[in-house]
Amino acid sequence: MKLPNFTEFEPFKVLRLKMGARKAGHFELFNPDKHLTGKERSELDQQGKQLPLHRLKHFADATWGLKNTRIAVYLEAATDYHLAQCPLTQSWANNQMVWVSTRRTGDLPLGNESSSRQICAECLQLLNYKGFDLQKNRKIAYSKNLIKTFSREEFFRVYTLYPVQGLAEKLA
Ligand SMILES: [Zn+2]
Repeated sequence: MKLPNFTEFEPFKVLRLKMGARKAGHFELFNPDKHLTGKERSELDQQGKQLPLHRLKHFADATWGLKNTRIAVYLEAATDYHLAQCPLTQSWANNQMVWVSTRRTGDLPLGNESSSRQICAECLQLLNYKGFDLQKNRKIAYSKNLIKTFSREEFFRVYTLYPVQGLAEKLA
């Protein structure tokens, strides 16, 4: 019996391209430089992590990343946190130590402690998140309310928390 040759079968070729597989049988092995391990993911969620700013990725959609994951970024002494490369975060030095976390709800972790923080308005402005705009008079009340009711859980559904794929990194 002769089996059909599927390597040249057009619909499968298209599918392989969509999957990012260049050749039949090609797949990407787990790469710890690019992918977070299970342990790292749970650490980011529960304790957070302190890193110098230059270790973070500038994703092309203006969010911050660590390997293939989006993150919240914050300074220990501040009362806010950032989800985008807003002017404030851009003013930090490359070797500035920052906290990062992927926690979706409630306080953000600082190791074994945690703190209540507010989302940075500049970040929402930059992303124009849900039409956020403090520069338009008719949107000020709406935008201020968006800060109060802001949900990271919802944000990370719009901007998928993990895995971030095919998002070229902006040159910083
Ligand atoms: Zn910000």
